[in-house]
Amino acid sequence: MRQVSLNAQILLGAVVGIALGFGFSGLGQTSEITQTGLYVAKLIGTLFIDLLRMVLIPLVFTSIVVGVANLRAHRQMNRVWQVTLCYFFATMAIAVVLGLAAANLFQPGSGLQIAMFQDAIQGFQATQMSLGDFFAQFLRSLFQNPIAALAQGNVLAVVIFALLLGIALVIGGERYRNILALMQEFLELILMLVGWIMRLAPLGIMALLLQLVATQDAQLLSTMIAFVAVVLGATLVHGLIVLPLILYLTTGVTPYQFWLGAREALITAVATSSSAATLPVTLRCVEQHLHVKRDVAGFVIPVGATMNMDGTALYEAVAALFIANLVGIELTFAQQLIVFLTAMLAAIGAPGIPSAGMVTMVVVLQSVGLPVEAIAILMPVDRLLDTFRTMVNVEGDMVGSLVVQKWVTKSDG
Ligand code: ASP
Repeated sequence: MRQVSLNAQILLGAVVGIALGFGFSGLGQTSEITQTGLYVAKLIGTLFIDLLRMVLIPLVFTSIVVGVANLRAHRQMNRVWQVTLCYFFATMAIAVVLGLAAANLFQPGSGLQIAMFQDAIQGFQATQMSLGDFFAQFLRSLFQNPIAALAQGNVLAVVIFALLLGIALVIGGERYRNILALMQEFLELILMLVGWIMRLAPLGIMALLLQLVATQDAQLLSTMIAFVAVVLGATLVHGLIVLPLILYLTTGVTPYQFWLGAREALITAVATSSSAATLPVTLRCVEQHLHVKRDVAGFVIPVGATMNMDGTALYEAVAALFIANLVGIELTFAQQLIVFLTAMLAAIGAPGIPSAGMVTMVVVLQSVGLPVEAIAILMPVDRLLDTFRTMVNVEGDMVGSLVVQKWVTKSDG
């Protein structure tokens, strides 16, 4: 009963936040009431995200170690990671193809004057990063002193170390049962903390959405309307049709059942624009509401939150074609193939934090010789688009955990 009321509170918080946001934006940025309102909202919103980030690293670490170690019982470890990676790549590839198709069909940006954005472009300092540099940097960030990775909050390196430790526990077997039991208990405690933090979610989400709506610049949005519409349209097709269809066909879970179980995490993703910050909520949703077993969820969700980003991959592809249109370059089929590959790579490499996809965008643009400075054009609308792509990123992880669980139990029986 309490679960239901928390869900209702979160929905209510979201609606009130959006309404207040419109109210404040109607009053204008200079009004004293707006400024006080935004100040309070920022304080509460930041605090909520800080709380989620506080539990993030211990949660990722323990859930992966326990997740992998428990796979021993199934003798399914190979199957779990194989199906997981196949699912991640397949869904991200579909997302990029969808983005490329939509951008080719609607040609956003072809009518716009690049001169209009000259100022933005000139004021932007691009970090030069070639595909090789990016790849090397990505590889190097995988392996780090685990204590440093834990302390610095480097999620990817924590994931890798936890995976290795989990595998060692599987191979070591009974002898290390105490460490495994310790990890298990630690995980349970962290999940208890997550439960407490979730009580604050309605307020936190209200504050974050209020801020988002009140600080949107409607005029800039309307200049970019075609681009925004193509990205949102394609992202919604992926999130509302493609992923639910995959889910239904493989597991029989209907979109409505999924929504009921997943909504806490989806709304948190919209409010925080961060798959990493949402991760504690995502894990809770799939385990408690969607009944994915801890060993599968503990592996698929944390790895997915750092690697599997359908929304980001789709966005990178559309944005690259949009910028090509703006500068009047027609990308050939071969060049679009490069965009396809680099968009996936850039999405995998993007950490689950706000606007990360825009930073790794550099790689996609450089790979086909587009001006990196053009990223400045995307900045004003990124905040809005980030909310939707993060939601689809998180949705993809949750659908993935259900699909993987189905495949693994299928071959179990
Ligand atoms: N904000 C996104 C996420 O956390 C990453 C991105 O910027 O695309 O999933």
